[in-house]
Amino acid sequence: MKVLKFGGSSVASPENIIKIKNIISAYDDDIIIVVSAFGGVTDDLITAGTLAENQDSSYKKILHKIEIRHLETIKSLIPIGGQSKVLSTVKGELNALETLLDGAFSIGEITPKLSDKIVSYGELLSSFIISEYFVISNLDCVYKDSRELIITTITNNRTTVNLEKTNANCFSYFKNSSHQIVVCPGFISRSADGEATTLGRGGSDYTAALYAATIDAKILEIWTDVSGMYTANPKLVKQAMPIAHISYEEAMELSHFGAKVLYPPTIQPVLSKGISIVIKNTFSPEDVGTLITKSTNEKGKTVRGISHIGNISLLSLEGPGMVGIPGISKQFFEVLSQANISVVLITQASSEHSICVGISADDVAKAVTVVNEAFTFQIDRGRIKKVVPENNLAIVALVGDNMKNHQGLSGKMFSTLGKNNVNIRVIAQGASERNISCVIDEKDVKKALNALHEEFFEENVKQLNLFVMGVGNVGAKFLNQIRQQKNYLKENLKLNLRVIGISNSRTMIFDEGGITLKTWEAALANGTKADKSEFFEKVNQLNFRNSIFVDNTASDAVASTYNNYLGNSISVVTCNKIACSSQYENYSELKELARTYNAPFLFETNVGAGLPIIDTLKHLIASGDKILKIQAVLSGSLNFVFNNFNDKTTFHDVVKQAQEEGYTEPDPKIDLSGVDVMRKILILARESGNQLEISDIKNDSFLPQESLDTDNNVDFFASIKKYETSFQDMYAKAANKDAKLKYVAQFENGQASVGLQEIPKGHDFYNLEGSDNIVLFYTERYPDQPMIIKGAGAGADVTASGIFADIIRIGNF
Ligand code: ADP
Ligand code: ASP
Ligand code: MG
Repeated sequence: MKVLKFGGSSVASPENIIKIKNIISAYDDDIIIVVSAFGGVTDDLITAGTLAENQDSSYKKILHKIEIRHLETIKSLIPIGGQSKVLSTVKGELNALETLLDGAFSIGEITPKLSDKIVSYGELLSSFIISEYFVISNLDCVYKDSRELIITTITNNRTTVNLEKTNANCFSYFKNSSHQIVVCPGFISRSADGEATTLGRGGSDYTAALYAATIDAKILEIWTDVSGMYTANPKLVKQAMPIAHISYEEAMELSHFGAKVLYPPTIQPVLSKGISIVIKNTFSPEDVGTLITKSTNEKGKTVRGISHIGNISLLSLEGPGMVGIPGISKQFFEVLSQANISVVLITQASSEHSICVGISADDVAKAVTVVNEAFTFQIDRGRIKKVVPENNLAIVALVGDNMKNHQGLSGKMFSTLGKNNVNIRVIAQGASERNISCVIDEKDVKKALNALHEEFFEENVKQLNLFVMGVGNVGAKFLNQIRQQKNYLKENLKLNLRVIGISNSRTMIFDEGGITLKTWEAALANGTKADKSEFFEKVNQLNFRNSIFVDNTASDAVASTYNNYLGNSISVVTCNKIACSSQYENYSELKELARTYNAPFLFETNVGAGLPIIDTLKHLIASGDKILKIQAVLSGSLNFVFNNFNDKTTFHDVVKQAQEEGYTEPDPKIDLSGVDVMRKILILARESGNQLEISDIKNDSFLPQESLDTDNNVDFFASIKKYETSFQDMYAKAANKDAKLKYVAQFENGQASVGLQEIPKGHDFYNLEGSDNIVLFYTERYPDQPMIIKGAGAGADVTASGIFADIIRIGNF
């Protein structure tokens, strides 16, 4: 004999019930089928009861909804000829239910007994309708009410199953049944004096396990809406995978710690009989599912699953009067137990100064009252502090039989959480070492589960979640490069890059599952109105692990939001130079935030686009070298301009061309005035450990004052046209000496300067082509022959790839 249990979603609609019929039609064995209430009906019944108790007549609306749902199901499953009998029985039950709710409404109260009676209608109705449908479909099927089989009793204030009576009832009934299929309601039972009782939320699994154990079933099959017990809740962790084979103990631990797919008490009855459990998916029956047995022999596997319980509060009993006094913890736990409060997690510091327990938030008010009452004497004398709960917490647990044989797992768990800025409130490790759990903020659960899952199950594939602001020249190229490289990065660098948010100055879009990069432009055009603070709020609220804010703008306002990101452990990658060249105080605050919140702040593209200039500088310094002098041509734009400008062109036309080809900032005056180069040398000086402001940098501009004074591009271009002869003079002077004009930045002895220089033949700068940049680092280790970095230093493509490189640096962080 086999026992099959179909859960709420498996019986939620007529189409699903037909699926069940198709599944069971393939069975030759005798089977017991246990069904839940139609998905959502138990919740509806509880809500209706609460409304009635509060004398809110809208319980009638819910009742009506329940009625329609059941009657419609009958009408779609059962041919007209057979409907009237089923309809009249169901209507009779619904009337009885209505009478109960009306009663609760008129007296404004629901006793636990009445509540049990009301919720039991969910399973009563579903099982009856399903069995009638099977009979009409010519299956050899009979209906049996579980209230006639499962008998409960009250022990220590709790409803428990009287196994002796239940076993006897089940044994005699099932052994004598002459039908291939018996359909029973899950979840419901009765007390010895005949009152309806229930087995707790999710209790249909337990019903099925009780039946399987009494009849020594070949197997217990739990049919649900997912393909087994997963490495983590698949609704929260997309990459979770079904666990093929797991031990009873592991399954029990996972379910105790929140893996709802199996109701925790389910395992005990079948474990003692050695009956295997298999978890299967009603909606994908061909999937293998999860097999739960005695020994799994899964050698080498340590962490098998990660689960969590939300809605947890912590209660700490502490005070000097606890040290060395026997019986305090005993009393503490007794008080909680007498109040029927179950303790989910316990920790005690070795100083004995405090005991901390995790309990369901639903019990917290009661717990605080009973504990403070019980310890009034000690509290009044200052020996123990009044308990004050901490709320909005969750427990996250790693589970696995073999964890005890491996070191370093807890270290890995806590460092993963730490890296993701998940604050750990309490740590507990079960004596069996089958479980390491910790208490964290409820708001961090999704991030914690995903980060841990990535660490323990995803072959080190690291997910990076990008939020991109600015999709002009550089930003668009950057998105394109991600699209092209996505698969390569996943396979070769084990990095999974996802773009979750994109914004330009007009609109913004978010997609928690990752924006499709093929169509981002169209999606962004239809996005919501752009707003920098809303963008940040959304990024922060999504609370994804490894979140990176990418700034591809040149905007002051965007740069002023970095502190929000970094202060919330969101990394920042930027090609925007404004933040790093602003007040030193701001620059150093951002760096400090990055350190404190463990969120990299990278801006390699601020100097030399994609060239690894800042990274190299950082490495030199980190390895103990000292920068003595920096000499550089740092403006790809100015280099482009002076490499193309000669007596056959005009200065104006060359600048125009540079702007059109994306070699200058949107406002070319920023380049030509030297401001852009000042910012760059300032950043290099700061990164070399110097405290400098932009106003400390000497700048002898080659531009006429009139051009410097313009405040828009049109006037600027008009002014340089006007001064063409003075530009031609500069060129001729240099050309006469066989020299070339280069815009050079220099830093030495704490002084920085920028300006146009005539570079003679043979100098390192002389042959600099196109928009190339060059940097010479003279250091203690490279005093005479400088370390030289040279290459393309401007252009959207190389800048985009520099941003990309920073992202990969964070991935490898
Ligand atoms: P049923 O109605 O069939 O009893 P449940 O809703 O009680 O189904 O349990 C199935 C659900 O359990 C899944 O849809 C999933 O959201 C949740 N769940 C939580 N943790 C896990 C896990 N580790 N593996 C599988 N499912 C899980
Ligand atoms: N219907 C009950 C519940 O929703 C029991 C079950 O589905 O297992 O909790
Ligand atoms: Mg369930």
